[in-house]
Amino acid sequence: MTTQSNAERIEGRIAVIGVDTPVARLVPSRHRRTIGAWCFLDHLGPADFAPGEGMNVGPHPHIGLQTFTWMIEGEVRHLDSLGNDIVITPGQVNLMTAGHGISHAEVTPPVTSPRVHASQLWIALPDSHRHMHPQFQNYQDLPIYTQDGFSVTLLVGARDGHTSPVEVYTPLLGLDLYSKDGGTTQLALNPTFEHGIVALQGTVAIDGEVLPHGTLHYQPTGATSVNIQTSADARVLVVGGEPFTEEIIVWWNFVARTHDEIAVARADWVAEAPRFGKVDHPHAGTRLTVPPLEGHLKGAH
Ligand code: MN
Repeated sequence: MTTQSNAERIEGRIAVIGVDTPVARLVPSRHRRTIGAWCFLDHLGPADFAPGEGMNVGPHPHIGLQTFTWMIEGEVRHLDSLGNDIVITPGQVNLMTAGHGISHAEVTPPVTSPRVHASQLWIALPDSHRHMHPQFQNYQDLPIYTQDGFSVTLLVGARDGHTSPVEVYTPLLGLDLYSKDGGTTQLALNPTFEHGIVALQGTVAIDGEVLPHGTLHYQPTGATSVNIQTSADARVLVVGGEPFTEEIIVWWNFVARTHDEIAVARADWVAEAPRFGKVDHPHAGTRLTVPPLEGHLKGAH
């Protein structure tokens, strides 16, 4: 077994999505901008919204990335400029490939349970695919198998004889491990991948060290396995991938390569250019306003 002494613990921060929905943001941070092509990792909830309240993120654009939503509890309604209107339910993944440009809104549908628990991630598209036509997929059937009493859902990638249908464009892994009764398992890792591990619920220890909620356990390439130990009713998210070597610029909802590309995308959103289409739905909420360009992006070439 490869030594894990080069693993790092990186504290996340609280961020706000939409108008007022708090999330724990684990990626990016000053210390870790990507894990493979995963360039964004938010943990939402578990939380109980008051009646009539919920997640309300109005129409906003994306370029150069895939948004990936893993729904654990509750429901979120996705509306986009391609005309999709999908309520994602627990155990499902939504994958929106922005490519050259798309816009979408995410709102809480009127449901009986106010509970929401989800993880939302972004995947940077490689240069070969970042200008592609936008698309949206809702995956209802992901491979689920059992390992040492853990229920393992294969969100992205291939392992243990299973292949996730989620369509990505660089070598990636996404796993959800749930333990009903508590237990321990030695999780094999691809040593050419770097990995990130997040405790989503319950008490979780990685290689014998408790991993606090809101903290990322980062494992660089070279490791062949990691030990995961949990309390009862615990959930762990594992993401991984080949280190993404393309230099990216992440600004607001855009992933690009140059400051000019960011400035053009920003101007296109302001001008309501056809590139981003329209989220044409009465429940989509208020179109989000793009922030001003920061100094280092202004007039850059
Ligand atoms: Mn979005």
